[in-house]
Amino acid sequence: MFLIIAFSCLLSVFYGSFVGSYIIRFPKLIDTQSNVTIYSPRSRCEECGATLKYYMLIPLLSYLIQRGRCLFCKKSISKFYFLNELFHLSLMASILWSGVLPSNLESILLFLVIVSLYAQFLIDLRHLALSLFFSGKILILGLILNGYFDLFTDIASSLMGAFAGYASLYLINKIYFLIRKREGIGGGDFILLASIGALLGYQLLSIVVLIASLFSILMYLIGRSHYIDKVPFGSGLSLSAILTIAIKIFSI
Ligand SMILES: [Zn+2]
Repeated sequence: MFLIIAFSCLLSVFYGSFVGSYIIRFPKLIDTQSNVTIYSPRSRCEECGATLKYYMLIPLLSYLIQRGRCLFCKKSISKFYFLNELFHLSLMASILWSGVLPSNLESILLFLVIVSLYAQFLIDLRHLALSLFFSGKILILGLILNGYFDLFTDIASSLMGAFAGYASLYLINKIYFLIRKREGIGGGDFILLASIGALLGYQLLSIVVLIASLFSILMYLIGRSHYIDKVPFGSGLSLSAILTIAIKIFSI
């Protein structure tokens, strides 16, 4: 048991490192003109551009050993990498150790769902766009968690949630388009809400959207100069879904 938890925590830090790179590289990953992938080019220092050696890429440890500075130019490394990996480790450890879910597999799948929502939250917050990769992952994991483990709802509500999540925002956007002659909601938001519907079931969608709207307005007001005329609604949806998961899990 202890070995499984320790090994899962170790893997979570490496997975966190992958998610961190994905978030930072996201605009280049979706740019068809760019040849940047998640693996290439290799990680480099943002200040001096030097390619990092393998021993400088060990999650958490490299940052601590180098005392948060690049070994080549001595400039500070962004704290994001360290905090992001620490978040993954803490989340995996707390889900597994608390024993809040009956099986380790279910706990690891829940970890992957929360991390995907966390990634969508940061991607939309930074880049005002959403990742199809993470939405797809939430959708599939949601169907597995409900269909196999009955975690949040039954499979019928889960499938209806996916449909209702997509259709509701699609229709609102259509109506908005007819009135204002421009798109009001990004297509990425339809897919994200479909995945949240598959995860939490159609019954919770309206409350998730309501809380998401409040979070989004708050984030817009805080970062007004960055967002100009766009609201990070995907970030609001992700945060609202994480909050709903937390409430549901603690009330099980
Ligand atoms: Zn450097």
